[in-house]
Amino acid sequence: MGSDHSSSKPRLVIVSNRLPLSVEQKNDIFEVTQSSGGLVSALRGLKAADYVWLGWPGVAVNEGDMEIVDTALAKENAAAIYLDDGLAKDHYNGFSNAILWPILHYQSGVVMNPDAWEAYRRVNELFADRVIQEARDGDLIWVHDYHLFLLPQMLRDRLHVQKKRCLIGFSLHTPFPVDDFWRGLPVQEDLLRGILGSDVIGFHTDEYRKNFVTACDILLDSVQLKDDQIQINDRIVKTGKYVVGIDYERFATAISDDKVKSRIKELESLYKGKTVIIGVDRMDYTKGLPEKMEGFRVFLDEHPELSDKVILIQIAVPSREDVKKYQDLEGEVSKRVGQIIGKHASPHSTPLLYIHRSVSFEDLTALYSISDVCLLTSRRDGMNLVASEFVACQKVRHGVLVLSEFTGAASFLNTGSILCNPSSAEGVSAALYRAVTMGQEERRKNYEELRDFVTTHTRLDIFLC
Ligand code: UDP
Repeated sequence: MGSDHSSSKPRLVIVSNRLPLSVEQKNDIFEVTQSSGGLVSALRGLKAADYVWLGWPGVAVNEGDMEIVDTALAKENAAAIYLDDGLAKDHYNGFSNAILWPILHYQSGVVMNPDAWEAYRRVNELFADRVIQEARDGDLIWVHDYHLFLLPQMLRDRLHVQKKRCLIGFSLHTPFPVDDFWRGLPVQEDLLRGILGSDVIGFHTDEYRKNFVTACDILLDSVQLKDDQIQINDRIVKTGKYVVGIDYERFATAISDDKVKSRIKELESLYKGKTVIIGVDRMDYTKGLPEKMEGFRVFLDEHPELSDKVILIQIAVPSREDVKKYQDLEGEVSKRVGQIIGKHASPHSTPLLYIHRSVSFEDLTALYSISDVCLLTSRRDGMNLVASEFVACQKVRHGVLVLSEFTGAASFLNTGSILCNPSSAEGVSAALYRAVTMGQEERRKNYEELRDFVTTHTRLDIFLC
Protein backbone atom coordinates (compact mmCIF):
# COMPACT_ATOMS: atom_id res chain seq x y z
CA MET A 1 0.00 0.00 0.00
CA GLY A 2 0.94 3.61 -0.46
CA SER A 3 2.26 4.43 2.98
CA ASP A 4 4.83 1.60 2.82
CA HIS A 5 7.90 3.72 2.09
CA SER A 6 10.32 0.79 1.94
CA SER A 7 10.22 0.44 -1.86
CA SER A 8 12.12 3.10 -3.79
CA LYS A 9 10.27 2.63 -7.09
CA PRO A 10 8.43 5.80 -8.09
CA ARG A 11 4.67 5.50 -7.87
CA LEU A 12 1.68 7.27 -9.23
CA VAL A 13 -0.06 9.24 -6.47
CA ILE A 14 -3.60 9.88 -7.73
CA VAL A 15 -5.61 12.60 -6.00
CA SER A 16 -9.31 13.23 -6.56
CA ASN A 17 -11.97 14.86 -4.39
CA ARG A 18 -13.83 11.56 -3.86
CA LEU A 19 -12.13 8.19 -3.59
CA PRO A 20 -13.37 5.79 -6.28
CA LEU A 21 -14.63 3.53 -3.48
CA SER A 22 -17.67 3.40 -1.26
CA VAL A 23 -17.11 3.07 2.46
CA GLU A 24 -20.14 1.70 4.27
CA GLN A 25 -20.57 0.86 7.94
CA LYS A 26 -22.46 -2.40 8.55
CA ASN A 27 -22.81 -2.95 12.30
CA ASP A 28 -19.20 -2.76 13.53
CA ILE A 29 -17.57 -3.51 10.22
CA PHE A 30 -16.58 -1.06 7.49
CA GLU A 31 -17.05 -2.41 3.97
CA VAL A 32 -15.14 -0.94 1.08
CA THR A 33 -16.38 -1.54 -2.46
CA GLN A 34 -14.89 -0.44 -5.77
CA SER A 35 -16.92 1.90 -7.93
CA SER A 36 -16.74 1.94 -11.70
CA GLY A 37 -15.97 5.46 -12.89
CA GLY A 38 -14.20 6.31 -16.14
CA LEU A 39 -10.90 6.98 -14.40
CA VAL A 40 -11.02 3.67 -12.51
CA SER A 41 -11.46 1.86 -15.82
CA ALA A 42 -8.70 3.84 -17.45
CA LEU A 43 -6.29 2.81 -14.68
CA ARG A 44 -7.34 -0.83 -14.55
CA GLY A 45 -4.06 -2.03 -16.08
CA LEU A 46 -1.92 -0.67 -13.24
CA LYS A 47 -0.41 -3.06 -10.72
CA ALA A 48 -1.18 -2.55 -7.04
CA ALA A 49 2.42 -1.59 -6.19
CA ASP A 50 2.40 1.16 -8.80
CA TYR A 51 -0.11 3.57 -7.31
CA VAL A 52 -1.94 4.93 -4.33
CA TRP A 53 -5.19 6.90 -4.57
CA LEU A 54 -6.03 9.67 -2.09
CA GLY A 55 -9.36 11.40 -1.60
CA TRP A 56 -12.32 12.05 0.66
CA PRO A 57 -14.11 8.77 1.48
CA GLY A 58 -17.55 10.41 1.11
CA VAL A 59 -18.72 9.65 4.66
CA ALA A 60 -18.00 11.08 8.08
CA VAL A 61 -15.84 8.67 10.10
CA ASN A 62 -15.41 8.95 13.89
CA GLU A 63 -11.85 9.48 15.01
CA GLY A 64 -11.91 6.13 16.81
CA ASP A 65 -12.82 4.30 13.60
CA MET A 66 -10.29 5.96 11.31
CA GLU A 67 -7.63 3.32 11.83
CA ILE A 68 -10.03 0.52 10.83
CA VAL A 69 -11.12 2.44 7.72
CA ASP A 70 -7.49 3.21 6.85
CA THR A 71 -6.64 -0.50 7.01
CA ALA A 72 -9.62 -1.44 4.81
CA LEU A 73 -8.73 1.26 2.27
CA ALA A 74 -5.05 0.33 2.25
CA LYS A 75 -6.00 -3.10 0.89
CA GLU A 76 -7.48 -1.26 -2.12
CA ASN A 77 -4.43 1.00 -2.61
CA ALA A 78 -6.36 3.95 -1.25
CA ALA A 79 -5.91 6.44 1.58
CA ALA A 80 -8.60 8.70 3.06
CA ILE A 81 -8.44 12.43 3.51
CA TYR A 82 -10.98 12.99 6.29
CA LEU A 83 -13.08 16.14 6.24
CA ASP A 84 -15.51 17.55 8.70
CA ASP A 85 -19.08 17.23 7.28
CA GLY A 86 -19.79 20.99 7.19
CA LEU A 87 -16.46 21.80 5.56
CA ALA A 88 -16.90 19.04 2.96
CA LYS A 89 -20.36 20.38 2.14
CA ASP A 90 -19.20 23.99 1.77
CA HIS A 91 -16.30 22.93 -0.43
CA TYR A 92 -18.32 20.52 -2.59
CA ASN A 93 -21.78 22.06 -2.83
CA GLY A 94 -20.98 25.63 -1.78
CA PHE A 95 -18.07 26.42 -4.06
CA SER A 96 -17.21 23.53 -6.41
CA ASN A 97 -20.74 22.78 -7.59
CA ALA A 98 -22.57 26.07 -7.03
CA ILE A 99 -19.86 28.41 -8.38
CA LEU A 100 -17.16 26.59 -10.34
CA TRP A 101 -19.36 24.01 -12.09
CA PRO A 102 -21.70 26.60 -13.70
CA ILE A 103 -18.84 28.87 -14.77
CA LEU A 104 -16.92 25.97 -16.31
CA HIS A 105 -20.12 25.09 -18.21
CA TYR A 106 -20.65 28.61 -19.57
CA GLN A 107 -23.38 29.76 -17.17
CA SER A 108 -23.58 33.44 -16.29
CA GLY A 109 -25.06 35.16 -13.24
CA VAL A 110 -23.07 33.15 -10.69
CA VAL A 111 -22.83 34.87 -7.29
CA MET A 112 -19.58 34.64 -5.31
CA ASN A 113 -19.78 33.27 -1.77
CA PRO A 114 -16.73 34.23 0.38
CA ASP A 115 -17.44 31.56 3.06
CA ALA A 116 -17.64 28.82 0.46
CA TRP A 117 -14.41 30.09 -1.10
CA GLU A 118 -12.71 29.90 2.30
CA ALA A 119 -13.91 26.29 2.65
CA TYR A 120 -12.57 25.52 -0.83
CA ARG A 121 -9.13 26.92 0.08
CA ARG A 122 -9.12 25.04 3.39
CA VAL A 123 -9.99 21.70 1.80
CA ASN A 124 -7.28 22.15 -0.83
CA GLU A 125 -4.82 22.86 2.00
CA LEU A 126 -5.89 19.75 3.93
CA PHE A 127 -5.40 17.72 0.76
CA ALA A 128 -1.95 19.24 0.22
CA ASP A 129 -0.89 18.41 3.79
CA ARG A 130 -2.00 14.79 3.45
CA VAL A 131 -0.67 14.20 -0.08
CA ILE A 132 2.74 15.55 0.87
CA GLN A 133 2.99 12.94 3.66
CA GLU A 134 2.34 10.24 1.09
CA ALA A 135 4.53 11.51 -1.78
CA ARG A 136 8.09 10.20 -2.04
CA ASP A 137 10.93 11.72 -3.98
CA GLY A 138 10.47 10.83 -7.66
CA ASP A 139 6.74 10.00 -7.49
CA LEU A 140 4.28 11.29 -10.08
CA ILE A 141 1.38 13.15 -8.50
CA TRP A 142 -1.77 13.22 -10.63
CA VAL A 143 -4.47 15.65 -9.44
CA HIS A 144 -8.00 15.44 -10.83
CA ASP A 145 -10.66 17.99 -11.54
CA TYR A 146 -12.13 21.32 -10.54
CA HIS A 147 -12.54 20.55 -6.82
CA LEU A 148 -8.75 20.79 -6.47
CA PHE A 149 -7.67 23.74 -8.63
CA LEU A 150 -5.47 25.20 -5.87
CA LEU A 151 -3.75 21.93 -5.02
CA PRO A 152 -0.93 21.80 -7.62
CA GLN A 153 0.72 25.05 -6.42
CA MET A 154 0.16 24.15 -2.75
CA LEU A 155 1.91 20.84 -3.41
CA ARG A 156 4.73 22.52 -5.30
CA ASP A 157 5.40 24.86 -2.33
CA ARG A 158 5.42 21.96 0.12
CA LEU A 159 7.61 19.76 -2.10
CA HIS A 160 10.10 22.64 -2.32
CA VAL A 161 10.30 22.93 1.47
CA GLN A 162 10.74 19.17 1.86
CA LYS A 163 13.25 19.06 -1.02
CA LYS A 164 11.30 16.35 -2.84
CA ARG A 165 11.15 16.25 -6.63
CA CYS A 166 7.83 15.00 -7.96
CA LEU A 167 6.19 15.70 -11.30
CA ILE A 168 2.68 17.11 -10.89
CA GLY A 169 0.01 16.43 -13.51
CA PHE A 170 -3.47 17.94 -13.49
CA SER A 171 -6.46 16.65 -15.49
CA LEU A 172 -9.62 18.66 -15.94
CA HIS A 173 -12.75 16.59 -16.68
CA THR A 174 -15.07 19.51 -17.49
CA PRO A 175 -14.93 22.12 -20.24
CA PHE A 176 -12.77 25.19 -19.68
CA PRO A 177 -14.83 28.19 -20.84
CA VAL A 178 -13.82 31.18 -22.93
CA ASP A 179 -12.26 34.07 -21.09
CA ASP A 180 -15.46 36.15 -20.76
CA PHE A 181 -17.10 33.50 -18.55
CA TRP A 182 -13.97 32.66 -16.58
CA ARG A 183 -13.05 36.28 -15.71
CA GLY A 184 -16.49 36.75 -14.06
CA LEU A 185 -15.09 34.84 -11.09
CA PRO A 186 -13.42 37.25 -8.62
CA VAL A 187 -10.92 34.58 -7.52
CA GLN A 188 -10.02 33.43 -11.02
CA GLU A 189 -6.40 34.55 -10.70
CA ASP A 190 -5.79 32.46 -7.55
CA LEU A 191 -7.31 29.46 -9.34
CA LEU A 192 -5.19 29.88 -12.48
CA ARG A 193 -2.05 30.21 -10.37
CA GLY A 194 -3.08 27.11 -8.42
CA ILE A 195 -3.45 25.01 -11.58
CA LEU A 196 -0.20 26.39 -13.00
CA GLY A 197 1.65 24.75 -10.10
CA SER A 198 1.48 21.63 -12.31
CA ASP A 199 4.15 20.44 -14.75
CA VAL A 200 1.56 19.21 -17.22
CA ILE A 201 -2.13 20.08 -17.54
CA GLY A 202 -4.53 17.89 -19.51
CA PHE A 203 -7.85 18.82 -21.13
CA HIS A 204 -10.32 16.63 -23.01
CA THR A 205 -10.33 18.77 -26.14
CA ASP A 206 -8.06 21.27 -27.82
CA GLU A 207 -10.76 23.94 -27.49
CA TYR A 208 -10.71 23.69 -23.66
CA ARG A 209 -6.90 23.72 -23.70
CA LYS A 210 -6.79 26.86 -25.84
CA ASN A 211 -9.37 28.61 -23.64
CA PHE A 212 -7.21 27.93 -20.58
CA VAL A 213 -4.01 29.12 -22.22
CA THR A 214 -5.76 32.29 -23.45
CA ALA A 215 -7.13 32.99 -19.94
CA CYS A 216 -3.61 32.69 -18.50
CA ASP A 217 -2.24 34.97 -21.21
CA ILE A 218 -4.89 37.68 -20.74
CA LEU A 219 -5.41 37.55 -17.00
CA LEU A 220 -1.98 36.88 -15.52
CA ASP A 221 1.10 39.09 -15.69
CA SER A 222 4.34 37.17 -15.78
CA VAL A 223 3.30 34.38 -18.13
CA GLN A 224 4.58 33.84 -21.62
CA LEU A 225 3.23 31.44 -24.21
CA LYS A 226 5.26 29.12 -26.38
CA ASP A 227 3.04 26.92 -28.56
CA ASP A 228 1.32 24.56 -26.11
CA GLN A 229 3.56 25.60 -23.23
CA ILE A 230 3.18 28.33 -20.64
CA GLN A 231 6.23 29.90 -19.07
CA ILE A 232 5.58 31.17 -15.54
CA ASN A 233 8.60 32.68 -13.78
CA ASP A 234 11.39 30.20 -14.51
CA ARG A 235 9.17 27.19 -15.09
CA ILE A 236 7.61 25.68 -18.20
CA VAL A 237 4.12 24.18 -17.87
CA LYS A 238 3.01 21.87 -20.66
CA THR A 239 -0.63 21.78 -21.71
CA GLY A 240 -2.15 19.03 -23.81
CA LYS A 241 -5.25 17.24 -25.03
CA TYR A 242 -5.67 13.83 -23.41
CA VAL A 243 -8.83 12.09 -24.52
CA VAL A 244 -10.67 10.12 -21.86
CA GLY A 245 -12.26 6.95 -23.17
CA ILE A 246 -14.27 4.03 -21.82
CA ASP A 247 -13.38 0.44 -21.00
CA TYR A 248 -14.61 -0.72 -24.40
CA GLU A 249 -14.29 -4.45 -23.66
CA ARG A 250 -16.41 -4.18 -20.52
CA PHE A 251 -19.35 -2.83 -22.53
CA ALA A 252 -18.79 -4.80 -25.74
CA THR A 253 -18.62 -8.12 -23.90
CA ALA A 254 -21.51 -7.31 -21.52
CA ILE A 255 -24.02 -8.00 -24.27
CA SER A 256 -22.82 -11.63 -24.43
CA ASP A 257 -23.48 -12.11 -20.72
CA ASP A 258 -26.43 -14.50 -20.09
CA LYS A 259 -28.28 -12.09 -17.81
CA VAL A 260 -27.92 -9.21 -20.29
CA LYS A 261 -28.89 -11.50 -23.20
CA SER A 262 -32.12 -12.42 -21.47
CA ARG A 263 -32.88 -8.73 -20.73
CA ILE A 264 -32.23 -7.93 -24.41
CA LYS A 265 -34.68 -10.66 -25.46
CA GLU A 266 -37.38 -9.36 -23.11
CA LEU A 267 -36.94 -5.76 -24.22
CA GLU A 268 -36.86 -6.66 -27.92
CA SER A 269 -40.13 -8.48 -27.55
CA LEU A 270 -41.66 -5.62 -25.54
CA TYR A 271 -40.69 -3.00 -28.14
CA LYS A 272 -41.17 -5.16 -31.23
CA GLY A 273 -41.93 -3.01 -34.30
CA LYS A 274 -40.89 0.22 -32.55
CA THR A 275 -37.89 2.44 -33.10
CA VAL A 276 -36.27 2.79 -29.68
CA ILE A 277 -34.49 6.05 -28.79
CA ILE A 278 -32.37 5.95 -25.64
CA GLY A 279 -31.26 8.90 -23.49
CA VAL A 280 -29.04 8.48 -20.43
CA ASP A 281 -28.09 11.59 -18.47
CA ARG A 282 -27.47 12.75 -14.94
CA MET A 283 -30.22 15.15 -13.81
CA ASP A 284 -28.01 18.19 -14.34
CA TYR A 285 -28.83 21.44 -16.13
CA THR A 286 -25.70 21.01 -18.27
CA LYS A 287 -27.22 17.86 -19.82
CA GLY A 288 -30.03 19.75 -21.61
CA LEU A 289 -32.94 17.57 -20.51
CA PRO A 290 -35.63 20.29 -20.92
CA GLU A 291 -34.13 20.98 -24.37
CA LYS A 292 -34.33 17.27 -25.21
CA MET A 293 -37.99 17.11 -24.17
CA GLU A 294 -38.76 20.24 -26.18
CA GLY A 295 -37.02 18.78 -29.26
CA PHE A 296 -38.92 15.51 -28.84
CA ARG A 297 -42.22 17.36 -28.41
CA VAL A 298 -41.63 19.25 -31.67
CA PHE A 299 -40.64 15.96 -33.37
CA LEU A 300 -43.94 14.34 -32.33
CA ASP A 301 -45.96 17.43 -33.28
CA GLU A 302 -44.32 17.48 -36.72
CA HIS A 303 -44.64 13.70 -37.24
CA PRO A 304 -47.78 12.61 -35.33
CA GLU A 305 -47.90 9.42 -37.45
CA LEU A 306 -44.73 8.27 -35.62
CA SER A 307 -46.10 8.67 -32.09
CA ASP A 308 -46.98 4.97 -31.79
CA LYS A 309 -43.93 3.83 -33.79
CA VAL A 310 -41.15 5.37 -31.68
CA ILE A 311 -40.38 5.35 -27.98
CA LEU A 312 -37.89 7.56 -26.17
CA ILE A 313 -36.62 5.80 -23.05
CA GLN A 314 -35.05 8.52 -20.92
CA ILE A 315 -33.01 7.55 -17.89
CA ALA A 316 -32.35 10.57 -15.67
CA VAL A 317 -29.95 9.65 -12.88
CA PRO A 318 -30.63 11.73 -9.72
CA SER A 319 -27.82 14.16 -8.95
CA ARG A 320 -27.05 16.83 -6.29
CA GLU A 321 -30.62 16.55 -5.02
CA ASP A 322 -30.01 18.77 -2.00
CA VAL A 323 -29.35 21.78 -4.28
CA LYS A 324 -32.36 24.00 -5.15
CA LYS A 325 -31.37 24.51 -8.79
CA TYR A 326 -31.35 20.73 -9.28
CA GLN A 327 -34.73 20.34 -7.53
CA ASP A 328 -36.21 22.99 -9.83
CA LEU A 329 -34.77 21.23 -12.86
CA GLU A 330 -36.37 17.95 -11.82
CA GLY A 331 -39.74 19.71 -11.56
CA GLU A 332 -39.34 21.22 -15.00
CA VAL A 333 -38.36 17.94 -16.65
CA SER A 334 -41.25 16.07 -15.00
CA LYS A 335 -43.67 18.73 -16.22
CA ARG A 336 -42.47 18.47 -19.82
CA VAL A 337 -42.54 14.66 -19.68
CA GLY A 338 -46.17 14.82 -18.46
CA GLN A 339 -47.13 17.21 -21.27
CA ILE A 340 -45.68 14.95 -23.98
CA ILE A 341 -47.26 11.78 -22.60
CA GLY A 342 -50.55 13.61 -21.99
CA LYS A 343 -50.72 14.72 -25.60
CA HIS A 344 -49.27 11.76 -27.50
CA ALA A 345 -49.91 8.57 -25.51
CA SER A 346 -52.85 6.32 -26.35
CA PRO A 347 -54.46 3.45 -24.36
CA HIS A 348 -52.08 0.95 -26.01
CA SER A 349 -48.91 2.97 -26.54
CA THR A 350 -46.72 5.75 -25.14
CA PRO A 351 -43.91 7.50 -27.03
CA LEU A 352 -41.99 8.32 -23.83
CA LEU A 353 -40.79 6.30 -20.87
CA TYR A 354 -39.13 8.30 -18.12
CA ILE A 355 -36.99 6.58 -15.48
CA HIS A 356 -35.80 8.93 -12.77
CA ARG A 357 -33.29 6.70 -11.00
CA SER A 358 -30.11 4.84 -11.87
CA VAL A 359 -30.34 1.41 -13.49
CA SER A 360 -28.12 -1.66 -13.14
CA PHE A 361 -25.20 -2.20 -15.48
CA GLU A 362 -27.11 -5.15 -17.00
CA ASP A 363 -30.20 -3.03 -17.73
CA LEU A 364 -28.09 -0.16 -19.03
CA THR A 365 -26.14 -2.30 -21.51
CA ALA A 366 -29.30 -4.16 -22.61
CA LEU A 367 -31.01 -0.81 -23.26
CA TYR A 368 -28.01 0.53 -25.18
CA SER A 369 -28.02 -2.64 -27.24
CA ILE A 370 -31.73 -2.71 -28.23
CA SER A 371 -31.88 0.99 -29.13
CA ASP A 372 -31.85 2.35 -32.68
CA VAL A 373 -30.90 5.88 -31.70
CA CYS A 374 -29.09 7.49 -28.77
CA LEU A 375 -30.14 11.12 -28.21
CA LEU A 376 -27.79 13.37 -26.19
CA THR A 377 -28.53 17.10 -26.04
CA SER A 378 -26.11 18.52 -23.44
CA ARG A 379 -25.92 22.31 -23.26
CA ARG A 380 -22.24 21.79 -22.31
CA ASP A 381 -20.45 18.58 -21.44
CA GLY A 382 -16.75 17.94 -20.72
CA MET A 383 -16.75 14.72 -22.74
CA ASN A 384 -19.92 12.55 -22.39
CA LEU A 385 -19.02 8.91 -21.94
CA VAL A 386 -22.58 7.70 -22.59
CA ALA A 387 -22.01 8.38 -26.32
CA SER A 388 -19.06 5.96 -26.38
CA GLU A 389 -20.82 3.36 -24.20
CA PHE A 390 -23.77 3.32 -26.61
CA VAL A 391 -21.44 2.74 -29.57
CA ALA A 392 -19.66 -0.09 -27.70
CA CYS A 393 -23.00 -1.94 -27.35
CA GLN A 394 -24.10 -1.49 -30.99
CA LYS A 395 -22.06 -4.21 -32.73
CA VAL A 396 -25.25 -5.80 -34.10
CA ARG A 397 -27.81 -3.04 -34.57
CA HIS A 398 -25.55 -0.17 -35.72
CA GLY A 399 -27.68 2.46 -34.00
CA VAL A 400 -27.45 6.17 -34.79
CA LEU A 401 -25.87 8.66 -32.42
CA VAL A 402 -27.52 12.11 -32.26
CA LEU A 403 -25.10 14.25 -30.30
CA SER A 404 -25.04 17.84 -29.09
CA GLU A 405 -22.28 19.83 -30.72
CA PHE A 406 -21.46 21.21 -27.25
CA THR A 407 -20.10 17.94 -25.86
CA GLY A 408 -16.38 17.19 -25.79
CA ALA A 409 -17.26 13.89 -27.52
CA ALA A 410 -18.59 15.82 -30.54
CA SER A 411 -15.10 16.94 -31.47
CA PHE A 412 -14.07 13.27 -31.88
CA LEU A 413 -17.33 11.59 -32.94
CA ASN A 414 -18.48 14.20 -35.46
CA THR A 415 -17.91 11.90 -38.41
CA GLY A 416 -20.38 9.10 -37.91
CA SER A 417 -22.92 10.90 -35.75
CA ILE A 418 -25.62 13.51 -36.38
CA LEU A 419 -24.70 16.70 -34.54
CA CYS A 420 -27.38 19.01 -33.18
CA ASN A 421 -27.67 22.30 -31.33
CA PRO A 422 -29.89 21.68 -28.27
CA SER A 423 -31.10 25.31 -28.24
CA SER A 424 -33.02 24.68 -31.45
CA ALA A 425 -35.99 22.36 -30.85
CA GLU A 426 -36.58 22.32 -34.62
CA GLY A 427 -32.94 21.32 -35.17
CA VAL A 428 -33.18 18.49 -32.59
CA SER A 429 -36.41 17.33 -34.22
CA ALA A 430 -34.84 17.32 -37.71
CA ALA A 431 -31.76 15.41 -36.44
CA LEU A 432 -34.02 12.86 -34.77
CA TYR A 433 -36.12 12.42 -37.90
CA ARG A 434 -32.96 11.84 -39.96
CA ALA A 435 -31.81 9.28 -37.38
CA VAL A 436 -35.04 7.27 -37.21
CA THR A 437 -35.38 7.15 -41.01
CA MET A 438 -31.74 6.36 -41.82
CA GLY A 439 -31.15 3.30 -44.02
CA GLN A 440 -29.22 0.30 -42.75
CA GLU A 441 -26.22 0.81 -45.05
CA GLU A 442 -25.66 4.39 -43.86
CA ARG A 443 -26.10 3.24 -40.27
CA ARG A 444 -23.41 0.59 -40.73
CA LYS A 445 -20.94 3.06 -42.25
CA ASN A 446 -21.51 5.57 -39.46
CA TYR A 447 -21.18 2.90 -36.80
CA GLU A 448 -17.81 1.84 -38.19
CA GLU A 449 -16.53 5.44 -37.97
CA LEU A 450 -17.68 5.72 -34.35
CA ARG A 451 -16.38 2.28 -33.37
CA ASP A 452 -12.89 3.12 -34.67
CA PHE A 453 -12.63 6.00 -32.22
CA VAL A 454 -14.20 4.19 -29.26
CA THR A 455 -12.00 1.09 -29.57
CA THR A 456 -8.77 3.08 -29.85
CA HIS A 457 -9.29 5.60 -27.04
CA THR A 458 -9.65 3.53 -23.91
CA ARG A 459 -7.11 5.06 -21.52
CA LEU A 460 -6.24 8.42 -20.06
CA ASP A 461 -2.49 8.74 -19.82
CA ILE A 462 -1.21 12.19 -19.04
CA PHE A 463 2.28 11.05 -18.08
CA LEU A 464 3.02 9.27 -21.37
CA CYS A 465 3.79 12.58 -23.03
N1 UDP B 1 -24.48 5.59 -15.48
C1 UDP B 1 -24.61 4.97 -14.26
N2 UDP B 1 -25.87 4.58 -13.85
C2 UDP B 1 -26.97 4.77 -14.61
C3 UDP B 1 -26.82 5.42 -15.84
C4 UDP B 1 -25.56 5.82 -16.24
O1 UDP B 1 -23.63 4.77 -13.56
O2 UDP B 1 -28.08 4.40 -14.19
C5 UDP B 1 -23.11 5.98 -15.90
C6 UDP B 1 -22.86 5.81 -17.38
O3 UDP B 1 -22.59 4.45 -17.68
C7 UDP B 1 -21.66 6.74 -17.60
C8 UDP B 1 -21.84 7.79 -16.51
O4 UDP B 1 -22.90 7.36 -15.68
O5 UDP B 1 -20.45 6.05 -17.43
C9 UDP B 1 -22.15 9.16 -17.08
O6 UDP B 1 -20.97 9.68 -17.63
P1 UDP B 1 -20.97 10.92 -18.61
O7 UDP B 1 -19.55 11.21 -18.98
O8 UDP B 1 -21.87 10.67 -19.78
O9 UDP B 1 -21.60 12.11 -17.79
P2 UDP B 1 -21.28 12.68 -16.31
O10 UDP B 1 -22.43 12.20 -15.48
O11 UDP B 1 -19.94 12.17 -15.88
O12 UDP B 1 -21.33 14.17 -16.45
